[in-house]
Amino acid sequence: MFFPGPGSDCFALPLLYRSHGGERMNPNEVRFAADAMLLSLAKWLRMLGYDCLAGSGIFGRSLVETAVAERRWILTRNRRYAGDLPQLLLERADIFLLAGEELPGQLREVADRFSLEPSAFLFTRCLVCNAPLHPIAKPHLPPSVPHAVRAREEHFWQCRHCRRIYWRGSHVRNSMRRLNDWLGNP
Ligand SMILES: [Zn+2]
Repeated sequence: MFFPGPGSDCFALPLLYRSHGGERMNPNEVRFAADAMLLSLAKWLRMLGYDCLAGSGIFGRSLVETAVAERRWILTRNRRYAGDLPQLLLERADIFLLAGEELPGQLREVADRFSLEPSAFLFTRCLVCNAPLHPIAKPHLPPSVPHAVRAREEHFWQCRHCRRIYWRGSHVRNSMRRLNDWLGNP
């Protein structure tokens, strides 16, 4: 799993990926909230460009309340998730119970259930804080971006929330190969 650090982030073209075709739900049509046990899944959903709220401190009632308020699908493996939560709250919640214990099966489950688009929105969202990325021109890049990278790359993107800079890199291509293996044509 690739977790970018400050000043060493990246972005990619969907070079390797092939879509299944057919009707797909784009990131404007479905949003997620993953419980604290599914942080890796959340990162990979963000890599696909989908909005997935997640964090070690986001779980239980606060997660459900946020998901309901923001109309997000709750992703969890916990069959007893309902626990002591109020029935009125649960009735308003959309909960998708995953069967898989780990990636990549979990990602396939979500991609299949929600007909996610596997290529069109790759790397359009910050993997760290879930915010959309925006193009940034070279003259506006912060000093933290190495000169070699500036010389090599033409296109950069920035997360306006955490200010991380993304560009294309070999680790992105590796991630795309993994996605192609996991979600590629059956
Ligand atoms: Zn960010």
